[in-house]
Amino acid sequence: MSDLHARHKAVLPEWLALYYADPLEITHGEGRRVWDADGRQYLDFFGGILTTMTAHALPEVTKAVSEQAGRIIHSSTLYLNRPMVDLAERVAGLSGIPDARVFFTTSGTEANDTALLLATSYRRSNQILAMRNSYHGRSFTAVGITGNNAWSPTSLSPLQTLYVHGGVRSRGPYAALSDAEFIKACVADLRDMLGQARGGAAALIAEPVQGVGGFTSPPDGLYAAFREVLREHGVLWISDEVQTGWGRTGDHFWGWQAHAASGPPDILTFAKGIGNGMSIGGVVASAEVMNCLDSNSISTFGGSPVTMAAGLANLTYLLEHDLQGNARRVGGLLIERMRAICAQLPVVREVRGRGLMIGIELIDPGTGEADPRAAAAVLEAAREGGLLIGKGGGHDTSVLRIAPPLSLTVAEAEEGAAILERALQGA
Ligand code: PMP
Repeated sequence: MSDLHARHKAVLPEWLALYYADPLEITHGEGRRVWDADGRQYLDFFGGILTTMTAHALPEVTKAVSEQAGRIIHSSTLYLNRPMVDLAERVAGLSGIPDARVFFTTSGTEANDTALLLATSYRRSNQILAMRNSYHGRSFTAVGITGNNAWSPTSLSPLQTLYVHGGVRSRGPYAALSDAEFIKACVADLRDMLGQARGGAAALIAEPVQGVGGFTSPPDGLYAAFREVLREHGVLWISDEVQTGWGRTGDHFWGWQAHAASGPPDILTFAKGIGNGMSIGGVVASAEVMNCLDSNSISTFGGSPVTMAAGLANLTYLLEHDLQGNARRVGGLLIERMRAICAQLPVVREVRGRGLMIGIELIDPGTGEADPRAAAAVLEAAREGGLLIGKGGGHDTSVLRIAPPLSLTVAEAEEGAAILERALQGA
């Protein structure tokens, strides 16, 4: 065990998850590559979803952050804050939500917590509909609406949560259905759950593509169908875009747009790589919903000028360089390449994804059951080969997750696929 790992274990909680038997210390990065404390270089196929949406050490963002830090870092509350207003205007315009208002937080958890505060206050109900296998954060309320038990350490939630089908397609009772039949079955399930929400539910919260859950996405149009039913009951739709926001899915800027017939969600949340590594989260809602709170509610660091400067520089860069289009093109090539590689491998049940959000679900070929051991082994072997990937899935964690920075090149996609091919062949 490395000295740092031993010190980590001695002072930090056991439940603070670490990848790899011999955990990695990343000391610096550039573009799509990172280096460890021993000077080894890795191609980073996971940091894009964690923190670094665009590229490691992107000069435009670094410059904006250091200039703002050199001028002033003050609270974003109580005083006017120009970078916060600038970014709020741009996010409101991009959100698709009419008469949008934006509130900035420091994390995805805090963004979802705020969305729950808004929805429950607006509807005067503590009942929430959430998706099976979902992940929405680590606060007391967020774990209470997280359907993936591997990430939900308590059931003592102040919310009453009803879980509905639809987030996962590859297994469960509806696995064999066609897209249209799947949507019909999930809508029937939603109606059933709405019938059980005694006081009338406040909201349905869903990730357009389940992130931690293993990059599963429902057929296009599911949330449009859900939306119609929710409207009949006056229930709000919260789209958790913490992983899908800002072009990662390639075809769309937001994940909800794959269900566009439904129009925008009532509440949208975002976070993770928005600041290309600086801690930004946020909530967008119409003025009517956002302003339903009748007392002050501030976040000292949410909307900090320095994180807002990072968000503005990152947004400008990714729009000017059409990184959404890059996610579509390079992600499309990468998924096809991985499908070709995996077609020959009995350990792979499915290669799926949208844009630069690609999941590879592993099974034990003997039993057909999810194989977390194989996923852990491939993660280690990929690291040995010089490639960082992630894993996820249900409580059995058997899905490899690929989510590089959105500036990934075709050559890097090929390089990573070749490393992954060797790692998978050993599984
Ligand atoms: N929602 C989703 C969909 C997420 O993937 C995450 C983080 N994995 C969160 C919310 C919570 O974000 P944070 O870790 O920034 O609190």
